[in-house]
Amino acid sequence: MTEEIVANNFIHEIIDEDLKSGKHTEVVTRFPPEPNGYLHIGHAKSICLNFGTAIKYNGRCNMRFDDTNPEKEEVEYVDSILEDIRWLGFDWGENLFFASDYFDRMYGYAVELIEKGLAYACRLTPEEFKGCRGIPTEPGKDSPFRDTTPEENLKIFENMKAGVYNDGEYVIRAKIDMASPNLHMRDPAIYRIKKADHHRTGDKWCIYPMYDFAHCIEDAIEGITHSICTLEFEVHRPLYDWILDNISIECHPRQYEFARLNLNYTVMSKRKLLQLIEEKYVNGWDDPRMPTVAGLRRRGYTAASIREFCKRIGVTKFESMSDIALLEHCVREELNVTSDRYMGVLDPIKVVIENYPENQEEILIGTNNPMDEKSATREIPFSRELYVERNDYMENPPNKFHRLGKPGKEVRLRYAYFIAFKEAIKDEDGNVIELRCTYDPETKGGNAPDERKVRGTIQWVSAKHAYDAEMRLYDRLFDCETPDINKDGKTFIDHLYKDSLKTLTAKVEPAAQKLGKTARIQFERTGYFYVDHIDSTENAPVFNQIVPLRSSWK
Ligand code: ATP
Ligand code: MG
Repeated sequence: MTEEIVANNFIHEIIDEDLKSGKHTEVVTRFPPEPNGYLHIGHAKSICLNFGTAIKYNGRCNMRFDDTNPEKEEVEYVDSILEDIRWLGFDWGENLFFASDYFDRMYGYAVELIEKGLAYACRLTPEEFKGCRGIPTEPGKDSPFRDTTPEENLKIFENMKAGVYNDGEYVIRAKIDMASPNLHMRDPAIYRIKKADHHRTGDKWCIYPMYDFAHCIEDAIEGITHSICTLEFEVHRPLYDWILDNISIECHPRQYEFARLNLNYTVMSKRKLLQLIEEKYVNGWDDPRMPTVAGLRRRGYTAASIREFCKRIGVTKFESMSDIALLEHCVREELNVTSDRYMGVLDPIKVVIENYPENQEEILIGTNNPMDEKSATREIPFSRELYVERNDYMENPPNKFHRLGKPGKEVRLRYAYFIAFKEAIKDEDGNVIELRCTYDPETKGGNAPDERKVRGTIQWVSAKHAYDAEMRLYDRLFDCETPDINKDGKTFIDHLYKDSLKTLTAKVEPAAQKLGKTARIQFERTGYFYVDHIDSTENAPVFNQIVPLRSSWK
């Protein structure tokens, strides 16, 4: 990776000052996913910001699993997350951590708070707990357990750890301020009982730290300098600071918040993505319509285009909605320069070149990538019977239609010849089934010796040489910009777009049959395609459309 990853932003200005003032001499960030799902494009923004910042300042970015919730976490997710981050182009080196490795220390810090009289065991039911918490404009009510002695609290905490109580029977709460206007400061829970096995610690623990208690400790243990998270954690920051101020830990990282990525036509919550999978609206986390990193990869997006997108949307403190068209633009822009071109016909109609001898065939030469001066070329077989796109023909075309349909009017077959339309053959029902044309042998390669011009150029394949390829055309998964917002009694499920996947059999030129898995190409005038790395086999590539081509060559 040679490019700049993140554009300069307010967090970098803070870092610049911290380095200048000597507050820090190195920059340490982290990416802390909870392993309860696959990564999505929103995570990619956070990954680019955290890893990109570390790269910019020659610091380090820790890869840390925030695995404090035993129930929803699975090893499959850990593996997929690491794979996706590597694929995105980032490297954590030796710095792979699990919050669960710190459980002993976290337990110790909770004991410390209890001993200091800054935490207590509370036996309120979850409903009572909520009821006591109150609303921002009115103070909450003290828990009746708030003044239990440290000795008594310690005993209860030990019993909690020993499995004496049931789930939910007790929680440990920080003793802060039941009148704080910030509800997160009203004696929040820091430890709870959860008799569940953990993917790394097994049955060692039946109590687990709450996110707010755990996260700042994880940051401090790892010596994080700038703990970057999304805006919804801004109101948690006083708690983050309170915990670190009240336990015996040297390091006190600072938390900075940025606006999360919201993308139109998309849902991003892991819970909703999981629902799409479980209810079989999509085929798993890597379905090419999913906004997951695995899905985008399977669709054919490059890591560089995702990084570029994340860079362009920028890092700010303002909530906004990004346009999925920008993501599409980024991959188009890259593939326009890098991808080889081939010819494929998605909706074929046969063309017979009447003046081309029946048994003749010849090889024409195509430039693979016209954007590359040193591009390789390929051989394209030509014969009397071809396929072209059905919509390159029009019965009774208007004058400005420069393709097939008007008798005598010529069109250029890309890299081949000028052909002139003669007539359309119909079946009994009146459907056009074949086009009859003639070619001009003097126009080989697609150029006329006499400078006569044709306005239209179309792609084609030789019927007997073409390969029948499976093509999967993907569209947006949802039919409206904000499927997340429940309105008119509709949920995001009601907004699934029914044509988000169309599968068809296309005719492609033989050279495209040899493409290996993961190749990214352009089918001329159609779009950018990816040779699916799972379903393709040798000499039988399956093509996923990454994005359609917006601007076609004429
Ligand atoms: P979800 O709410 O979908 O479960 P999450 O935020 O809980 O997502 P985590 O695994 O906790 O998921 O996220 C890991 C990191 O990625 C966090 O630092 C979080 O702030 C960041 N992140 C998650 N979603 C986005 C987003 N849409 N834009 C930017 N950063 C995000
Ligand atoms: Mg989270």
